[in-house]
Amino acid sequence: MKNVLITGGTSGIGLGIARAFAAKGYNLLINGLEPNGPEIAKELAAEHGIKVIHSPANLMQPEQIREMVALAERVLGQVDILINNAGIQHVAPVDEFPEDKWDAIISVNMSASFHAAKAVWPGMKTRGFGRIINIASAHALRASEYKIAYVTAKHGIAGLTKVLALEGAPHNITCNAICPGYVRTPLVEAQIADQAKAHQMSESDVIEKVMLKKQPVKQFVTIDAIANLALYLASETAGQLTGAMLPIDGGWSAQ
Ligand code: NAD
Repeated sequence: MKNVLITGGTSGIGLGIARAFAAKGYNLLINGLEPNGPEIAKELAAEHGIKVIHSPANLMQPEQIREMVALAERVLGQVDILINNAGIQHVAPVDEFPEDKWDAIISVNMSASFHAAKAVWPGMKTRGFGRIINIASAHALRASEYKIAYVTAKHGIAGLTKVLALEGAPHNITCNAICPGYVRTPLVEAQIADQAKAHQMSESDVIEKVMLKKQPVKQFVTIDAIANLALYLASETAGQLTGAMLPIDGGWSAQ
């Protein structure tokens, strides 16, 4: 069975994707900063009879990304599927946006995907198979105020996705981005509070008037929907689907 490396695989969307791939029998390396990462890995391995390892690599450190990929290659044998999912957010008007938050968001949400792709690339090229799936955002396609670093990084992921698709084409390496609208994860729970402050609104008004205002379907996107699309993109049959920015956003980007 193929092996998958998922960054940010110990929380929210990444953990949902890890569970979906585990249930299909894939072996996993799950990366993430949550302290219970090793327990999640053990639980998934026992439940599904697969190999799962956890890496607490800090994606702000390129050397740690390279070591994480080397660990996966050593313990699992190879990385067939890379899912660049880890992401962070900070919400503030541009003139108050802290420089260190800008640097961190560009590093985790954008540069880490380059370092991880570069590290898995030689193995994928040699074997003539690779699937790179970037969990981008509707903010890779559309902008919102107060999210200068996040929107910039996610638009950068659109460029990275397309270049990797072109360079991977001769080697059966595909690269696509999933662009979700709002999903109710710990990242969004934190934003509800931050947005309430930035917009000077109540938290329930932020959900209705800011977040779901942009999603005509008026529901949060489910983690299951994203995980199922990732499973399809990872499959052998998805070889012709490459370089695409795929929205699951309740109609947000149709506007
Ligand atoms: P989350 O906060 O639940 O999980 C983020 C994960 O990234 C965690 O496991 C965390 O440990 C990891 N992480 C953060 N910084 C890291 C670092 N420096 N090194 C290693 N790991 C790090 O968030 P989520 O909502 O599940 O988001 C996952 C991805 O989906 C992100 O890229 C996010 O931008 C994107 N996304 C989320 C939503 C949403 O509404 N939740 C919508 C669109 C896109």
